[in-house]
Formats: sequence, structure tokens, C-alpha cells
Amino acid sequence: MDAFVYSFLGPEDGDCLIKWGSDILPKKLVRELIRTKFRNLSKLKTFLQEYSIRNKIQIEKTKKLIINLWKEKSPDIISELETLFKTTIDCKTITIYLTTFPMFPYNQDECWFTSSVYSRKADHLETMKHELNHFYFHKVFGEKDSRINGKDFWAIKESFCAITLSEEEVYDSHKNLRNFIRNVSNKAKGGREIYEQCIDFVNR
Ligand SMILES: [Zn+2]
Repeated sequence: MDAFVYSFLGPEDGDCLIKWGSDILPKKLVRELIRTKFRNLSKLKTFLQEYSIRNKIQIEKTKKLIINLWKEKSPDIISELETLFKTTIDCKTITIYLTTFPMFPYNQDECWFTSSVYSRKADHLETMKHELNHFYFHKVFGEKDSRINGKDFWAIKESFCAITLSEEEVYDSHKNLRNFIRNVSNKAKGGREIYEQCIDFVNR
């Protein structure tokens, strides 16, 4: 699977800025970037250049770093996730958007996720593992589960990353669930079994 790395902007003034919207998805911008393949976005490029110089961001260097990291690590990440979830995902290519935002939206149907332009190599790797885990999770378990509320579903989805990421500690409030998942995943036969045990856990 190939990966492309694009970059978009943080919340600074500029006419090429797309607002961060009501939710955390910069879908409009993402669609626009894909549609135009940057053809009509010379202003965006200029702004990006100026923005990155001003903030000492090395976009090209970061892009290369991520591409190399992807080439080196993604086969193992994907094979581990395929084993855990017992499925494959439908993405032919993955797009990675570099962002200055402190949040990392993703869309498994459109096959893209975001990584911080300020991240170092190890953080980019962690992001890849984390977001790809979400892609597989959604493929198998969908977007919600009628047996639990949305907040718990989200907590399970986030905590699932702890199975393939030993250092995963993103959400403090999920600590108990994360530890539970780490414990049961040693014995469980696969993602489905772990998931079912999580449903029981949050319903306790
Ligand atoms: Zn996440």
C-alpha cells in the first residue's frame, strides 16, 4: 500500500484557510486538495511556505521522513492489524495529511489520516499505528453499537490501540479500559473476542 503526504494549515489568518468547522473534520479542505491536486491552490502553497518559514517547520523534510517511515514500517503494522482484526481494509492508498492542529482527524472511508508537522519520527510512527488501528476497528465494528452509548464505543475504539501500541496512553480517562484490554488481549483469540469483553466491561 502506498502513502501520500500532503500538508495543510493551522488556525492562522489567511484567505486559503478553511475553518476548523463544527467538528474536527476538515473534510472540505481535504476534498478540495484531492479534487484539485493543488492545481488551483498556488495561494495555499505560498501561504504554506511563508507559514512554515515563520514557524520553522520543515515540510519537505517531514514528508520524506514519513514516506520512508511508511515504506519501512507499514507492511509490519498492516500485517499485525490484519492478524488482530482478521480482515483487510479497502484502501488502495493512504493519504497522510500533515497538520499544525493539535488534533488528528481521520476518515477510514476516504483512507486518510493526519499527523502533526511538529512530531518527531517516533511520534509519526505511533500515529500511523494508532490511526490504522482505527481503520481496521471501523471495518469490523462499524461506527456504533446499539448495546452501548457513543461515548463508550469511542472509548473502546481508542483503547483498542493499546493492543498494538505498548506505549499508548493518549486518553487519561480510558486508563482502566486500556488496562483491561491489555490484560484480556493476551488470552483472547482475536479482535472480536476482545471487543465483546469490552462491551461487558463498559456495561458493568
Ligand atoms: Zn484515536
